[in-house]
Amino acid sequence: MRPTTGNRQPTTKITIIGGGASGLMAADFLSRTREVHIYERGKTVGRKFLVAGNGGFNLTNRATGAELLRHYSPAPQMITALQNFDTTAVRAYFSDLGIPTFIGSSGRVFPERGIKPARVLAAMMHRLRERGVHFHFHHTFVGFTETMQPIVENAEGKLILEAEKFFFALGGASWSKTGSDGKWLDLFVEKGIKTVPFQASNCGVNVRFAEDFTKKYAGTPLKNIAVRCGDMTVKGEALITEYGLEGNAIYPVVREVRRLGEQVVLHFDFKTQNTENQLIAKIKGNNIQPKNYGYAFNLTKAQTAFIKQFTTKDEYLNPILFVKKIKNLSVSVEGLRPIDEAISTVGGVAMSELNNNFSLRRFPHLYVLGEMSDWDAPTGGFLLQGCFATAYAALH
Ligand SMILES: Cc1cc2nc3c(=O)[nH]c(=O)nc-3n(C[C@H](O)[C@H](O)[C@H](O)COP(=O)(O)OP(=O)(O)OC[C@H]3O[C@@H](n4cnc5c(N)ncnc54)[C@H](O)[C@@H]3O)c2cc1C
Repeated sequence: MRPTTGNRQPTTKITIIGGGASGLMAADFLSRTREVHIYERGKTVGRKFLVAGNGGFNLTNRATGAELLRHYSPAPQMITALQNFDTTAVRAYFSDLGIPTFIGSSGRVFPERGIKPARVLAAMMHRLRERGVHFHFHHTFVGFTETMQPIVENAEGKLILEAEKFFFALGGASWSKTGSDGKWLDLFVEKGIKTVPFQASNCGVNVRFAEDFTKKYAGTPLKNIAVRCGDMTVKGEALITEYGLEGNAIYPVVREVRRLGEQVVLHFDFKTQNTENQLIAKIKGNNIQPKNYGYAFNLTKAQTAFIKQFTTKDEYLNPILFVKKIKNLSVSVEGLRPIDEAISTVGGVAMSELNNNFSLRRFPHLYVLGEMSDWDAPTGGFLLQGCFATAYAALH
């Protein structure tokens, strides 16, 4: 792609394209010693950052060391990046910015109570403005020159950007209303950079329920359960929705659903603290009636109704067979939710194209940060943590 108008920019030392979590963090690190320009397609930065804050803003997680690293796959560069800028470093970074954090009961790290996401973003922006970082809004990355200089487009036309190094932080391909639509992928493909098609990660799964069940229970959580898929078992909560299930016990197994080909079965355990035999012992001589299952096994109405959705009449009426379903209920997945709804995506620039500092092996003046490259992690603060770690890695 060639620019149609040729406004040449004065040389800038460092250019970041994309003003999301990783672009802003990189701007902070780089502006300590360099002149930094951020080009962003929207009229503001950090829109996904703000969206992330709507439902509990996990800036990072409590996990450290091997416990932290095991959440990331399948990228050696991420391991190095996370070792160099781990969850403790992220907490220290925000504390230094005037945003103290606390660890929630689930291990997720939040800004202190009362600190809204907009204040976190404002603190980052304040620091960048104080350092003299230049913001260029309404500039969309639209391609490369022959010599791999980025071209951006604004209302007046196209510009070839000039800088010593270019840091791309254009995000993945979900929640396109926040600016990250993943369209940049084709522009990298055109230049022979190996990419992996985007797929939804951390998303809901489609499950077929009877209409009256959905009407009654959509919006109800199934708490303290375990969900198994392939090699993975996750404890947590699944939320019943109009289309199926979402929540922190579902998102992590999406990786296995993708691996196994989407037409897969999830196995639910509704009594993780009890063995099958302990539950059978509650039956007391097979006297128990289905209407008493809730009381006998301490199940909520939604749990009992959910189990009923996936058992035959004979299984439901027989308490011993019902107990087996409490401990291992098979639920067929009918597919993943559309990519735009996903909390994060996998795919993007193949990790094999990247050096340890997230520069491209063949074009070392170009860096690829955050969700743009093909790594995966679950929710719980691990996504932002991963993005921040790539921004730090790019310093070296
Ligand atoms: C609903 C929701 C809740 C979430 N909650 C959490 C959470 O609690 N904890 C957590 O760790 N993670 C959470 N995440 C994930 C986290 O927000 C993302 O992983 C993270 O924001 C990705 O950062 P990024 O810098 O890679 O990309 P983004 O933050 O998506 O930023 C990319 C930027 O690039 C710009 N851009 C894109 N294309 C172009 C172009 N062609 N030209 C110029 N600019 C362009 C976009 O406008 C955008 O500003 C959540 C995500 C969602 C959707």
